[in-house]
Amino acid sequence: MGPARARALRRSGGSATPARGRSGERGVRPPGHGQPERRSPRGAAGTGRAGQRGVLPPGHGQPERGVRPPGHGQPERGSPRVAAGTGRAGQRGVLPPGHGQPERGSPRGAAGVPAAAPAPPPARHLFSDPAEVQALRRNLLAWYDRCKRDLPWRTLAATEPDADRRGYAVWVSEIMLQQTQVATVIHYYNRWMQKWPTLQALAQASLEEVNELWAGLGYYSRGKRLQEAARKVVSELAGRMPRTAEELQKLLPGVGRYTAGAIASISYGQATGAVDGNVIRVLCRLRCIGADSSSPAVIDRLWDMANVLVDRSRPGDFNQALMELGATVCVPKSPLCRECPVKQHCQAWHRVEKELAFTSQKLFGKAPPVPDVEDCGVGDCPLCPPATEPWDSSLGVANFPRKAAKKPPRVMRTATCVLERRGCHGAPEYLIVQRPSSGLLAGLWEFPSLPLAQDLKEEKEREELADHLQAWMGQPVAAKGLQFIGEVIHIFSHIHQTYVVYSLHLDGDVTLDPALSPSRWVTEDEFHASAISTAMKKVLKAHEKQRRKESSPVKGSKRKRGAKAQGAGRPCPGTQLSLHAFLRAPTGP
Ligand code: SF4
Repeated sequence: MGPARARALRRSGGSATPARGRSGERGVRPPGHGQPERRSPRGAAGTGRAGQRGVLPPGHGQPERGVRPPGHGQPERGSPRVAAGTGRAGQRGVLPPGHGQPERGSPRGAAGVPAAAPAPPPARHLFSDPAEVQALRRNLLAWYDRCKRDLPWRTLAATEPDADRRGYAVWVSEIMLQQTQVATVIHYYNRWMQKWPTLQALAQASLEEVNELWAGLGYYSRGKRLQEAARKVVSELAGRMPRTAEELQKLLPGVGRYTAGAIASISYGQATGAVDGNVIRVLCRLRCIGADSSSPAVIDRLWDMANVLVDRSRPGDFNQALMELGATVCVPKSPLCRECPVKQHCQAWHRVEKELAFTSQKLFGKAPPVPDVEDCGVGDCPLCPPATEPWDSSLGVANFPRKAAKKPPRVMRTATCVLERRGCHGAPEYLIVQRPSSGLLAGLWEFPSLPLAQDLKEEKEREELADHLQAWMGQPVAAKGLQFIGEVIHIFSHIHQTYVVYSLHLDGDVTLDPALSPSRWVTEDEFHASAISTAMKKVLKAHEKQRRKESSPVKGSKRKRGAKAQGAGRPCPGTQLSLHAFLRAPTGP
C-alpha cells in the first residue's frame, strides 16, 4: 500500500481490520486492567464490559504480589497526581491507560469533575488473547532451550544454590551488560567474579581496585555504584539481597527498573517483565508500535506488555529468551525473520508478508484485493507511527521501533601531554594523574590534560598546555619543548573527544605540587594495570608509535599538526607503493 493510501485510511480511521476496543468509549475497562487504578476516580461509575474483546490478559486481574506493575498507583515522575481530571478519552493528547497523567492543558481536580477512563490502546498493539500469549511463551521458551548461548552468568544463575550469591552474580552481569556487548563483558565478568565472588568480598575492595578491573569497559560510574550498593547490602541489609523488583529498585543505588526486573525474575523467579533495548525492539515489532520508543508513554505500554507476556513458571528464562531473541535474531538491521520462533505472533512480519503477496499478485497481472496492511485503524493512535513518517516498504520490519533523533554529541578538544623520564633501569616511565572523584571518568588516571577552547591556534594550544604543566610541576616548561604527536579521537556516548597529544621528555627529577591532583610515575606495565581509560591507552599507543618511527633508520617522520595519530592515509616513508599509488603520489621537488 502506498503512503498516500495509508494516510487516507489513517485519516478516515478505516482499515480492513475492524478496530477493537475503540478508544474514546467511556467506561470501557481497558485490557490488562482488571482493577481500576487505586485512587483513580474511574471505576466507580465505569461500565467495564468484562469478557468482551480485549479479554483480560493472564496475570492481570491482580498485580503480582509485592510488585507494583508499571503505571499502577504511581504518578509519572514529576507530574502531580491526578485527583479528578477531565480528560477526553480517545482524543488527541490523552495518554493510554495506566498513566495517571491528565490531558495537557486541561483543568483538573479543581471542580471535582470525574475523570473519564483513558483510552485503551487499540487491540493491534496488545496481547489480548490468552491463547496467543500461551503459544508465544511456549514457542519462545522452546527456542531458548535449544539455541541459548552459554554465558557464565547464566550458568551461575542456574547452579548457584545460595540466593544472595545468585542475585549478586546476576546483578553484576546486568550492570556490566548495560551499553556493552556480551563478547566484551565475558572476560571482565569472569575476572570480577573470581576476584569478588560475594557481596562481602566486593564490599571490602577499594574503589581503586574496582576502577582497575573495570578499566576499558567504559561507563566507569557503573563499577563505583555497584560497589557502593554492595557495601550498603552488607552494612544495612545484613548481606541479604532484596528479593523483589520493587525492593531492589528502592534499596540499591544504581539499580533501575530494568535491572531490578532482571535480577528478580532470573535469580528469584518473580514473574515480572524486564524491558531493555533488545526487548523494546522485539515488542515494537511484535505489535507494530511505531511511536517514539523512547517516550515515557510508549515505554510504559511496553512494560505493561512485558508484564503480561512473562511466563509465570519460568519468568527468568522468558525474559532472557526475549533479550536473546533481540540480540541474535530480531537484530536492528536485517533481522532473521524466517528463523524467528515467534514470527506467527509478529504483526510487523505479517505486514511485510502481506505486502509481498500483494506485490507478487500485481506482478502476475491479477487484480489483488486491497492488502490488509493498514495501521491499527484508530485515528491519531498514540502507538502507531506518526502521520509524518508513514510505513516505508523498503525497511520492512525495521520500520519498528522508531526513536526521536538523537542529540548530536558534544564536541570537545583536550590537550594531553605524555611526560616521560628514564626509570632506574633505563626503561621509560610516565607520569599519570588522577581525575576528580566525580564527573566523566571519575577517579581514573590519565596523562596531564587540559580542556581546550574550540578553534584555538596551535601556538596558543601549546602555550596553554605549557602553562598548565608549569603550574603543576613548579618549574619552567617551554612551549617549544612540547613535541606534537598527533590527534587521537575517542567517542564517548555523548561526547566526541579529540585529544591533541604532545610529549615532553624530562631529565632529572621533578617535584610535583602535592596540593594538586594525586600523581605517580608508572612503567608501561604499571600503566596498563592501572585504572586507565581506553582513550588514554590510545594516547600512549600513538606516542609509542611515534617513538618507534623516530628510532627507525628512516628519518623524516616528524608529525605535522592535523595528522591523525592512528590510521593515517599516507604511506610511511620507505613503504613500497603499488603502481596505482605510485602514479598518484605527489612528486617531490
Ligand atoms: Fe523480529 Fe522478525 Fe521475529 Fe518479528 S518475525 S519478532 S521482526 S525477527
